[in-house]
Amino acid sequence: MATNDRESMDLDVLYIGAGIANLSSAYALMKGIREHNAKAAANGLKTIEEPVVLVVDKGQKVGSHVLSGAVVDPVAFKELFPELKEEELPFFAPVTNDDIYYLTRSGKIPVPAPVRPREMCNAGCHLASLAEVTRWMAEKCQAMGIEVYTEFAATELIMEGNTVKGARIADKGLTKTGEPGEAFTPGMDIEARVTVLGEGTRGYLAQQLIGTLGLAADANDQVWALGIKELIRIPKGRVQKGSVTHAFGYPLDMATYGGAFVYAFDEDLVGVGLVMALDYPNPMMDVHDQFLLLKRHPLVAGVIEGGEVVEYGAKTLPEGGYFALPKLSVNGAVLVGDSAGMLNAMRLKGIHLAMKSGMLAAERIMMALASGDTSAAALDYRAAFDASWAGRELHRTRNYRQGFHHGLLPGMMLAGMHMFTGGALPAGRMKLPADYTAMKTAGRCRPTPKTKTDQKLYLDILTDVFKSGSVHREDQACHCRILEPALLKRDHKEYASPSTRFCPAEVYELVTDDSGNFTDIRINFSNCVHCKTCEIKDPLQNIRWTPPEGGDGPRYKQM
Ligand SMILES: Cc1cc2nc3c(=O)[nH]c(=O)nc-3n(C[C@H](O)[C@H](O)[C@H](O)COP(=O)(O)OP(=O)(O)OC[C@H]3O[C@@H](n4cnc5c(N)ncnc54)[C@H](O)[C@@H]3O)c2cc1C
Ligand code: SF4
Repeated sequence: MATNDRESMDLDVLYIGAGIANLSSAYALMKGIREHNAKAAANGLKTIEEPVVLVVDKGQKVGSHVLSGAVVDPVAFKELFPELKEEELPFFAPVTNDDIYYLTRSGKIPVPAPVRPREMCNAGCHLASLAEVTRWMAEKCQAMGIEVYTEFAATELIMEGNTVKGARIADKGLTKTGEPGEAFTPGMDIEARVTVLGEGTRGYLAQQLIGTLGLAADANDQVWALGIKELIRIPKGRVQKGSVTHAFGYPLDMATYGGAFVYAFDEDLVGVGLVMALDYPNPMMDVHDQFLLLKRHPLVAGVIEGGEVVEYGAKTLPEGGYFALPKLSVNGAVLVGDSAGMLNAMRLKGIHLAMKSGMLAAERIMMALASGDTSAAALDYRAAFDASWAGRELHRTRNYRQGFHHGLLPGMMLAGMHMFTGGALPAGRMKLPADYTAMKTAGRCRPTPKTKTDQKLYLDILTDVFKSGSVHREDQACHCRILEPALLKRDHKEYASPSTRFCPAEVYELVTDDSGNFTDIRINFSNCVHCKTCEIKDPLQNIRWTPPEGGDGPRYKQM
């Protein structure tokens, strides 16, 4: 690789990922320093020099790789922007109606409001497109003098011993064999006094740091769920803007934790999603087929019939909760948002926690910049997190998700106990094994049913991928690598090549000979929507996902 002309840059704070966690943190940092300086100047005290702050993101634009529900709890927005009225925040609508159903194959049983725990109540929340919210936040940051660079995929941490010194940005224009092509541009080395890892779910660099420095040695294994979502334009008059519907049960089997949502962003625009915990046991389950079955259920079909899919996407979300939080700081760096596992699985909400984690990290970063001490201890915001409403919220639901590992019924019993005792019971710390260990062998399981597709509403998987806008330059090394090709035969024999069913973008394709016998797995990496399911769910842990060059990947607009 030609690296002689690699540029470098020195700055104070480098934020990796322009998600809501990092943008909130960068904004809070600059705001905090300005407020401090105004007070200090008025009282003749020492001011803090305004730092040089850069946010980088691998997406083509801010928000291109951001996908959420989203029902937003505005608590963190109110803290960060106390000067703004709620109607000035970048939301579609306040929640006007909030229903929960248990779904059977063709019916629905409502869960009445009086028996629902308060965690599952969305009064006071707002519907939003998180991709749009992050773009709004990026503008707020830029107005504060913070630089935001897109198409910058950070692929390597710059380390000095156990201290993070910054990150290297991926080269562009390398060929499949890793040689510089005609349009080769070497990625920058960005050195910073503090690096903030807000890469979202299963962050590539965050996972490396957690692994190499043993940051999760005392924590539970992190577990994830996969969320598949479509935005669907529907005929007017069927939904009330702001209405929120959640459901559990069908199409998922009793051994799979998860649920569905239908959010009415407008009278003619709904978001439909299915979230499936990745500790599901059936290797024959096809995640996209499950999503189609959900759309065919009368609860959803009654809303979307006659409509047209406008966007598709998928993403994982960390569900391990309080007991799966890793150490949040190392020398020179902190973890925030989904990269640190800040998500409340019971509420299916992480936005407010991601924001608060970023804001609390900003307080420590400000002190570190002022004192010059950027050690792990100086940057550690865990105590402040635990003492905050965010830490208390996550603590209250600390054993909620664990019960569902054994199926829906035991999960509901334990969850009920957990919710009605405010988290006190079951007591202690319940553990969960890593998701991939839950997969049974194919011989013990049956394929999940399929349903008809069309070109407008019930889309096949490849048409859906097209709706994600995902694009990757073809002449580059594949970013979804099979580590040990020899293991693919065993993967097929024991699990019937489950990557062909758990990838929501058909990246992994079965190749057979004329007699239909397995020969290989073809990798169509340009379909990839960067959800990370393959790394998490592959039963032999034989797939490694790495960020491709900056700008590649989905191009979400309103997800
Ligand atoms: C289907 C689904 C539904 C959800 N519904 C809700 C909901 O209704 N309410 C709610 O509150 N929460 C919801 N969540 C969770 C919520 O979306 C997340 O908790 C939240 O987005 C986390 O924010 P973040 O900033 O940590 O990460 P993200 O929003 O994922 O942002 C991370 C950013 O980092 C960038 N990035 C990643 N790696 C790199 C790299 N190496 N180099 C450069 N850039 C990088 C990505 O491109 C991305 O822009 C949902 C999640 C899903 C998947
Ligand atoms: S290849 Fe992996 S990361 Fe990409 S869409 Fe498929 S499962 Fe998700």
